[in-house]
Amino acid sequence: MKIAIYSNLGESSNIVATSLKKKIEESPDLSIDGLNPEIVISVGGDGTLLSAFHHYQDISDRIRLVGIHTGHLGFYTDWRDYEVAELVDSLEHDNGQSVTYPLLDIRVNYVSGGPADYGLALNESTLKQISGSMVADVYIKDTLFESFRGDGLCVSTPSGSTAYNKSVGGAIINPTLNAIQMAEISSINNRVFRTLGSPLIISPDEWVKIVPKSSNRTILTCDHQIISNEAVESVEYRISKRRIAFAQYRHTQFWRRVSNSFIGKVNLDD
Ligand code: NAD
Repeated sequence: MKIAIYSNLGESSNIVATSLKKKIEESPDLSIDGLNPEIVISVGGDGTLLSAFHHYQDISDRIRLVGIHTGHLGFYTDWRDYEVAELVDSLEHDNGQSVTYPLLDIRVNYVSGGPADYGLALNESTLKQISGSMVADVYIKDTLFESFRGDGLCVSTPSGSTAYNKSVGGAIINPTLNAIQMAEISSINNRVFRTLGSPLIISPDEWVKIVPKSSNRTILTCDHQIISNEAVESVEYRISKRRIAFAQYRHTQFWRRVSNSFIGKVNLDD
């Protein structure tokens, strides 16, 4: 089986990546292939795994991801740095087991015209305005839903719902659900301006279209990277037909992971 290692530049990640590479090269069943891998192992944190996803985005339908975390526990990174030997053993006994998660399709049209631009997010995309309030019409399918005024809007995948979406008050969605979510970033709500004020969840046959109204420039992000600060005419978000696969050599129940990450130790005796 062909494996790519995608590591961040940290010293501890480098040590893990070097030991992993050596063990893979020693195995008769495994080989290193950075160009055409079947498995991509990210070594670092969730940010590294997101970068690995974008690096291999064009062949994402042919790969399965595995995350080793070398810092604190991540959401996409199941394996600890001291479990390299166990991971290599799982790779040698791989039988294609995987779990797949929804991705977010981003289609953006610019005021300057030209062909629409496409993007794919594993966590989320935001449309924000840094200077002044963002004023934008929000459509669900082709029907005007609300006129938004505030800092911006965040549209996230279920697996991204525990990331930036959570910080802006979005709900946490189990990634087994095929849905996307729109959450507001500091909306203005008073007698003059009114938005829903709560996150909403979009089904697979629906899409969200955001049409900025203010002349100030917006910033469009994908997984926290700026993809454009060109004047945007509209951005359409929908659940992608593509999904991302993770090799599932072991399973941590989603809500346990959420509880471990955000609640910590739960004392049932209190
Ligand atoms: P980063 O790599 O420094 O990550 C920031 C934190 O977000 C880390 O603790 C990481 O473990 C966590 N994270 C990332 N994806 C997650 C997920 N799906 N579920 C739970 N936690 C997750 O930041 P970056 O590389 O600039 O951005 C990567 C992602 O981190 C972004 O897509 C964004 O969702 C998230 N992020 C969140 C905030 C926030 O909550 N205010 C701020 C920055 C980045």
